[in-house]
Amino acid sequence: MYEGAIQDLIDELGRLPGVGPKSAQRIAFHVLSADPADVTRLATALRRVKELVRFCTTCYNVAESEQCRVCRDQRRTDEVLCVVEEPKDVVAIERTGEFRGRYHVLGGAINPLEGIGPDNLRIRELLARLGTGTVRELILATDPNTEGEATATYLALMVKPMGIAVTRLASGLPVGGDLEYADEITLGRAFEGRRAV
Ligand SMILES: [Zn+2]
Repeated sequence: MYEGAIQDLIDELGRLPGVGPKSAQRIAFHVLSADPADVTRLATALRRVKELVRFCTTCYNVAESEQCRVCRDQRRTDEVLCVVEEPKDVVAIERTGEFRGRYHVLGGAINPLEGIGPDNLRIRELLARLGTGTVRELILATDPNTEGEATATYLALMVKPMGIAVTRLASGLPVGGDLEYADEITLGRAFEGRRAV
């Protein structure tokens, strides 16, 4: 299509998740016409994220030191552990301000079609953490889709015999939503997860 550097940039952008060929081209030409200072900042941010960000050695959340901010926080309880698929799920749960326990980031979900089994996730590391006997409740906060459910079911089977309470996030109806527009799976789960008022 184009030659040299601009095509290289389009190709690289096109490899990013959620960026199609047209978006890649649009971003590349935006970069070409942007203020050099803005582009330098972007390039620096890209380089720094690879240089500075690593995974927490305890929970595998993203961190800029040995341990992530959540693991370093002395005010949180070690007795409740919340299992999520990705670091972005930690951010989503932290945003609610409801959770004061610790996390464990699996790095994905069981997905046989893509060849991702339990050994490809940080399940061994999770079991090692649970083996210390500190955790009283394990919250399974994997995604409410087929892969997330399969992962939650697998973990529940592994962990229940250890005498740890295993809970799953209630799937609810979107706040501000209309009951009639909820799909039957969501509505069915909301019924299952109902609680006393
Ligand atoms: Zn951590």
